Amino acid sequence: MSCPTLQLATLPVCPGLFYATPARDGIISRIRIPGGIINNEQGRAIAEFSERFGEGYVHVTNRANLQIRKIQGITSEVLTTLQKVGLAATLTEVDHLRNIMASPTAGIDSLELIDTRPLVKELDAYISGHPELKGLSPKFSVAFDGGGAVSICEQKNEIIFRAIAVSADCAAVERNIYFQLILGDATNILLQPEECLSVVVAIAQVCLDNLDQTLARKLRLKHLLQDKGVEWYLQQAQSYLPFSLLKRLKPTLDKSINPKNYNHLGVHPQQQPGLSYIGIVLPLGQLLSKQLQSLTDLAQNYGSGTLRLTPWQNLLISDIPNSCIPYVKDEIERLGLHYQANQIQGSLVACTGKTGCASSATDTKGQALALAEYLKKHITLDVPVKIHFSGCPKSCAYHGRSDITLLGTLIEKDKTLVEGYHIYVGDKEQAFGRELYTNVSIAEVPHQILQMLQVYQIKRAELDESFGEFTNRYAMQELRQLFDEEGSNR
Ligand code: SF4
Repeated sequence: MSCPTLQLATLPVCPGLFYATPARDGIISRIRIPGGIINNEQGRAIAEFSERFGEGYVHVTNRANLQIRKIQGITSEVLTTLQKVGLAATLTEVDHLRNIMASPTAGIDSLELIDTRPLVKELDAYISGHPELKGLSPKFSVAFDGGGAVSICEQKNEIIFRAIAVSADCAAVERNIYFQLILGDATNILLQPEECLSVVVAIAQVCLDNLDQTLARKLRLKHLLQDKGVEWYLQQAQSYLPFSLLKRLKPTLDKSINPKNYNHLGVHPQQQPGLSYIGIVLPLGQLLSKQLQSLTDLAQNYGSGTLRLTPWQNLLISDIPNSCIPYVKDEIERLGLHYQANQIQGSLVACTGKTGCASSATDTKGQALALAEYLKKHITLDVPVKIHFSGCPKSCAYHGRSDITLLGTLIEKDKTLVEGYHIYVGDKEQAFGRELYTNVSIAEVPHQILQMLQVYQIKRAELDESFGEFTNRYAMQELRQLFDEEGSNR
């Protein structure tokens, strides 16, 4: 275990626990949670940590990490305590690497093909024992998707292993479970589960071989793939592998996935008979220390003692006997939280915004919460609508598909600058979808979004057609006309 001290990052790196990063509103610490699962001892340690050294709350990030803002006064003893409960890298040199992402329902999802938790554990143990990996870019990222109902394939990761079932021939009943490797444009390599770790190690090694020490920023895998090509990369990786990677090509595999990934909120039966998990909505990923403490108690008393953080900035309590579900629901509401997937806050995300980030044009979080309050009073949603606020085009909070994206901007009105948004909808062919409205001032945003949602509820083709699918059926001009005409008739 290396000696833990807190360093202030001087280069633009992602925050870690040992590489706290200065932001506009103070110092940020980020605790890596491999696979997003914390046990009750860890939950309590984090609640105490944020209470003593932060401002009494934590945020679940879009990599299922925990982030604490405005921290001060951390000592090396505190870091040692966190290391002892398994919350901090035992090797501080690799603390900056991105969290390993996995399906939050691993091992409990009734549709999953394989439990990815052992793979996460294996990779985390490997990282913890190899200081040479410190040369990797902090953005080097790996995800394991078990092929269940809650897919994380749309989340941004440089390496994705996605479980799929393959039959030897069409008539075969027996299916073999493989992982499809998604690396840049390469999507057609199948691996046995036990081969995944070696492949990550080989890919990391090629990255390290190509390091340029003269660069201030570390070389990113995705840039190396762009510069040299995936074929070149795979050939280089092959030299580090005891099995053939290049003979595994299956031309028919594709990368398409189901974008309706809000089916983790609310109550769901598990693969274990008689048990269910409950997905809890955290408003913009925020959890008060006291709520975290109480949810940890709830998980210990009624579940298996673990909390599962999701990359959609919510969390799950698993392994609850079905007979206890009503009580757990009451307790969640008593804590001021809720679990319904159709509540607007359940599918609302926002980046830090101008209170914490100098690049932001707008107060994204404050305005997102105000929009949620406004919509709650004026409309009842029966299908989740994903709304994403971003203070600049970097899109830190969310990289997947949104139904509606609001991109912050400053607009000149009566010779003064006011905050506002460009509004995008539907398909993600362009960075945020298709641009529907430009320069909508923040005063006009709530009414504009309400009008769009009301028209969608009237005009959707099927009850479960998502807002994004609905907008994709129209050309932009048609859609504007529809919203404006129907809206003015109301
Ligand atoms: S998306 Fe832009 S404004 Fe928002 S936190 Fe990231 S860099 Fe800052």
